[in-house]
Amino acid sequence: MASREEGPVSGSAEGCLFCGIVAGVVPSDVVHTTERTVAFRDLNAQAPTHVLVVPKDHYANAAELAAGDPTASAELVTAAHAVATAEGYDSYRLVLNTGAEAGQTVFHAHLHVLAGRSMAWPPG
Ligand code: 5GP
Ligand code: ZN
Repeated sequence: MASREEGPVSGSAEGCLFCGIVAGVVPSDVVHTTERTVAFRDLNAQAPTHVLVVPKDHYANAAELAAGDPTASAELVTAAHAVATAEGYDSYRLVLNTGAEAGQTVFHAHLHVLAGRSMAWPPG
């Protein structure tokens, strides 16, 4: 397996659901793309707008993405803002679940963009 220093693949890109979506092999509702990111609607939306922004390259989580490709990491946030703005929201929540206990179920870094309803705090 490649180490973090050797390239974008950290963990396993093989059989990765979001790598499949980026490649267009797995169908999804893509709403926005940039040089390094793809944004598509979450299959199980938790708000009127619930979009996932992912790097095109496979990193297991946000911290590995930030360490391996800071430019793509920043692009995730600017893409998320563009998505929220395009859907008419200037108020939105961004979530980066990291680790199973925090609720991460897909181990390809992804930024949740949630908007269109009031958000409770603290999150569950
Ligand atoms: P996590 O729980 O890892 O932070 O977020 C994974 C998200 O991916 C969940 O919100 C889940 O609904 C979404 N998801 C899981 N499978 C699919 C899929 O096949 N297509 C899309 N568009 N979203 C998915
Ligand atoms: Zn992947």
